[in-house]
Amino acid sequence: MPDVRGLADAYGVRVELDDLGAWGGTTLVAEYDPNGPTIRVNARALPRGSSCAVRDAIDRAIAHELYHHREAIGEIPRLRDRAARERTADAFAEALVSSSEKPVTHRAHEALPERSR
Ligand SMILES: [Zn+2]
Repeated sequence: MPDVRGLADAYGVRVELDDLGAWGGTTLVAEYDPNGPTIRVNARALPRGSSCAVRDAIDRAIAHELYHHREAIGEIPRLRDRAARERTADAFAEALVSSSEKPVTHRAHEALPERSR
């Protein structure tokens, strides 16, 4: 059953868990590297707690970076304002990971590139 990771697979994006360190006091949650392409989730930024919370944080980070992948491949327009871009990426992540009436398979399907439908 496709989930956020399945969606990354469908896009051909590798997902790695890595220690990305901390930058000037802020901890980077994840990064998108168009070379690969690869999404790196910062192991250091994950919450301590139940495996559910960790899994949710990872899925959310992957979903957010998938938004940037979709920008990079031209599937969605790249918003000029960086803050707006980040808000939209967060909203996309929320839509993918939040529990809703629609099954995740459906939400993932909606987010798939045309050729994969
Ligand atoms: Zn972002």
